[in-house]
Amino acid sequence: MVNRMIVKIDEEKCNGCGKCVSPCAEGAIQIINGKAKVVSEELCDGMGFCIGVCPQDAISIEERQTMDFNPQAVKEMQETKEKDTETGSIHCFKCDRDENERYLMPLRHGKESIWVCTRCLPALIHG
Ligand code: SF4
Repeated sequence: MVNRMIVKIDEEKCNGCGKCVSPCAEGAIQIINGKAKVVSEELCDGMGFCIGVCPQDAISIEERQTMDFNPQAVKEMQETKEKDTETGSIHCFKCDRDENERYLMPLRHGKESIWVCTRCLPALIHG
């Protein structure tokens, strides 16, 4: 454990929109049960590129005791994502689950084609 800066997500404010998932190059954030979560604190470098995209002001950076940032774990996460891209594996744009984990449906929004799983779809419909 080390004392360092790390992302904090306020679940009360988070509406699960998923806009913070892609800006996190390390793959530290996923939408789980309709809320953004840091899936592994060793993946979060605390730089906060996700903060500016949050429409709910739900993300902040705090200094606290946590796992040390792990570049090797980040590399493995990025390699997994690259492999998925190469193999054509598709993922829900919100929670990042793949077609083996959830039923996925195609969506068209803002001139983009995206995939959403059946668990994340209700949040899109109902807000
Ligand atoms: S961008 Fe903000 S509101 Fe949207 S999922 Fe991330 S933390 Fe939640």
